Amino acid sequence: MRSTLAGPRVLLRRLREVMAEPINAQERLDKIVVLIAANVVAEVCSVYILRADGVLELYATEGLNRDAVHKTSLKVGEGLVGLIAADARPLNLPNAQAHPAFAYRPETGEEAYNSFLGVPILRAGRTLGVLVVQNQSHRTYFEDEVEALQTTAMVIAEMVAAGELEAIVQQGTKLDMSRPMHFQGVALSDGVGLGHVVLHEPRVVVTNLIAEDATVELERLERAINRLRISIDDLLNSGDMAPSGEHRDVLEAYRMFAHDRGWIRKIEEAINNGLTAEAAVEKVQSDTRARMMRQTDPYLRERLHDLDDLAHRLIRELMGRQQGPISESLPQDAVIVARNMGAAELLDYGRDRIRAVALEEGGPTSHVTIVARALGIAAVGLADNLVSLAESGDAVIVDGESGQVHLRPAPDIENAYAEKVRFRARRQAQYRRLRNKPAVTRDGAKLSLQLNAGLLVDLPAVTESGGDGVGLFRTELQFMVASSFPRMSVQTDYYRQVLEASEGRPVTFRTLDIGGDKVLPYLRAIQEENPAMGWRAIRFGLDRPGVLRTQIRALLRAAAGRDLKIMFPMVSEVDEFRRAKGVVEREIAHLTRHGYALPERLQLGVMIEVPSLLYQLDELYSLVDFASIGSNDLFQFFNAVDRGNTRVAGRFDTMSPAFLRALKEIVDTAARHDTPVTLCGEIAGRPLEAMALAALGYTNLSMSPSALGPVKAMVRALDLARLKETVLPLLDAPGDLRSLRPTLRAFAQETDVPF
Ligand code: PEP
Ligand code: MG
Repeated sequence: MRSTLAGPRVLLRRLREVMAEPINAQERLDKIVVLIAANVVAEVCSVYILRADGVLELYATEGLNRDAVHKTSLKVGEGLVGLIAADARPLNLPNAQAHPAFAYRPETGEEAYNSFLGVPILRAGRTLGVLVVQNQSHRTYFEDEVEALQTTAMVIAEMVAAGELEAIVQQGTKLDMSRPMHFQGVALSDGVGLGHVVLHEPRVVVTNLIAEDATVELERLERAINRLRISIDDLLNSGDMAPSGEHRDVLEAYRMFAHDRGWIRKIEEAINNGLTAEAAVEKVQSDTRARMMRQTDPYLRERLHDLDDLAHRLIRELMGRQQGPISESLPQDAVIVARNMGAAELLDYGRDRIRAVALEEGGPTSHVTIVARALGIAAVGLADNLVSLAESGDAVIVDGESGQVHLRPAPDIENAYAEKVRFRARRQAQYRRLRNKPAVTRDGAKLSLQLNAGLLVDLPAVTESGGDGVGLFRTELQFMVASSFPRMSVQTDYYRQVLEASEGRPVTFRTLDIGGDKVLPYLRAIQEENPAMGWRAIRFGLDRPGVLRTQIRALLRAAAGRDLKIMFPMVSEVDEFRRAKGVVEREIAHLTRHGYALPERLQLGVMIEVPSLLYQLDELYSLVDFASIGSNDLFQFFNAVDRGNTRVAGRFDTMSPAFLRALKEIVDTAARHDTPVTLCGEIAGRPLEAMALAALGYTNLSMSPSALGPVKAMVRALDLARLKETVLPLLDAPGDLRSLRPTLRAFAQETDVPF
């Protein structure tokens, strides 16, 4: 039902004049409440602002006792005002005092008023305060009055978000908007980054809230919605789009929302109340967000993400802005905050200004994680709701060691972290001093420590860190960051640069490990139930020999006159290696026929990452020149535990007697065959685990660059013979021991081995 309200549009127009006046925040709020009270024909209008301590403080009032301003306060959940803040929903009552939640505050003189209408002051679904009108008469406010008050609340939300109220914050208090927040996510890439938030998908800031002419705004909305629908249809119909799959589902959901009459009607209503089209979209999205954030159903929360995206797209359509990061205005200490992002997108930012990455999603072996690790950037994943709670420019700390994110940190946290950063820098300096020292244990055993790499940006680390070469070069990363399939000449150039940058140190190239979850944007993805165990790596390579052949030819040509090591991923049976070797031999014959120079020496190896190979080791070792253990995959298949699924990934320990026995079998058999083995999974880069590997007999380890220092420091402090005496008997007779980790930790502590 509609009231005889003078019209929210008139109110908004007056508010715009007030917003433009050169007065201070208190005067502006005081004027705003007078205007609203007059417009809604209410005796009282009050603004409560949420403080960091969870208290709603009266910031301005027309009609209540003015002395109560900055004195009267209610906790969230307390009284009617507190209830509105807690539920983020309007409350419309003809007889407020009869409501069980009513809390009387004598200083306000409130007892004279009966009817009550309060709405939350929302921004991006977050409650920043409460706006209230009251009347003496017992009346129910009309729907359009509720709507008008909500619209007005948006103007106040903008004042808060713009920091205007900071000037009138009472001493000893803080606004909730600037409240420190803590997120416990999972550690993805080691390091600590202090800096300022850069939203990967910047929220377009709607500054023009109040419309001149509703008809014009309605037309703008209609045009933008049409453009939005067309762009979604185009995406869905484009040739590259797989006929089914997650990406398609998301777009189908967008299409559904973009045609949803209810959604569009709400936006039109907000325009009719005086907002510009973009402000109306923002208002409706904020209301929806506030409602849906209280849902725990993961399906609904996922839809909330979709709706957020859609609203942002529509706002961009309306404001004519393009999507994408604004790298020119990147601060010197950028912390990239995103729901999720691709490896290439991270690389686009450029390494120099990025201090850290914090994601709402992201898994420990997702590609953005691998790239962050390669670049030495701290990264945290699974930081729930971070994107909507962070504002561009907020101070933030990302702790890639513990998986914590501190948004707008309090000074004591900031100091503690500044100390932590200094401590880590001192440690890094110690590691740098180890650079030219060999990785030799105290009792004289020599280990070779190599690096994992995959991009040209990794390569300076090879020479700077004092590593013995590249033990694993993940060639698929170059393919993943390219916009189209790299031609052979491009691949050849690339591999040549890799060999040159490593300055004579050995590089082990792994052929493409794509397929499954490692999707190339330009290659049609195939839907698989279990992608990790699907058509990936060498399986794909042998079925599509053209791709494998091109890569092998590029590698052979790039290494002309030098040493070359190539290994094949995800081999499950000896015959796969034989066939892959056949491809290489045919390419050598081809190049020889055409007079090309060949590598000086070629070694072909296998990755051991599928447990079936454990029962074919003798045959395998008699064929290969070397082997490399992909313990990430080997562990996932050994225990049937998805390495990217945080719910189960921590369930089993890599230091379990069973897994260590398997690793020992692999290295012992290799020794009998005189076949060199390296271990290149993540455990090689963790000092405690690397220590256990040394005890098993592994002397070649390959790891991410940042792990090299800590592992070398461990090796140089280690008495290996004594460790073997402690650890090996436990492998033969583990009893009910589930993990050797406590034993290893105790050993390291007792013998002063840093880990
Ligand atoms: C592994 O599986 O351990 C490995 C090194 O390969 P990736 O992590 O690339 O699968
Ligand atoms: Mg692997």
